[in-house]
Amino acid sequence: MFGEIPLIKVTATGLRGQDLSWWRHDPEYEPPLPRGAVRGNVKRQVFCEAHHVPKYFYLDEVRSCVQCGQEFTFRAAEQKHWYEALQFNFDSVPVRCLTCRRKRRSEHALREQIARAKAAVRARTDDPAAHVSLARAIVEYHERTQEGDLNEAISAARKAANLWQGAAEPLFWEGFAHARAGRSAKARDCLRAFVDHSKPGPASLRQRAREFLEKA
Ligand SMILES: [Zn+2]
Repeated sequence: MFGEIPLIKVTATGLRGQDLSWWRHDPEYEPPLPRGAVRGNVKRQVFCEAHHVPKYFYLDEVRSCVQCGQEFTFRAAEQKHWYEALQFNFDSVPVRCLTCRRKRRSEHALREQIARAKAAVRARTDDPAAHVSLARAIVEYHERTQEGDLNEAISAARKAANLWQGAAEPLFWEGFAHARAGRSAKARDCLRAFVDHSKPGPASLRQRAREFLEKA
């Protein structure tokens, strides 16, 4: 790909004073750039001379995503960033498309949110806000992944409602947890009570509850 790469001889003195020498790729070599290529800076790259050839330039690379199978482009500029700014090893390459990478990151963030909410519930058992956060985190994770313990969300929402008499928001999360679990009658009851509540919760939640009730 880079044509005939000139080799240069490197010499050094070994631990026992002996002369050592080997050949390596010339880091100053500048092959002509093909169209769309980005010049590499070999001195910033971290790689094993025995297994890899330095990247004198980068070209867009088409790869297929291990998760969704779609093709995506590992762009030349992105490669330069990986191997020179972040100094990743040449063996590390992206295996997922951007959409799947973002999705994975946000799923990871949602799992962490659940873990944090559980810790908060353990630390402050009688804090209704902690229970609401847990119910919400579980429902949001379920919306994203179709996984998670919805009954735990429901019991967290009910605990919050008991601890926080007259609050509307626990009804919303209980209702949505029922909806996710396919119990639409229970979902409607909770969401109706939420919408009709004398102290309404956040406007964005009321909007979602109304949309659900219109469709159901
Ligand atoms: Zn993908």
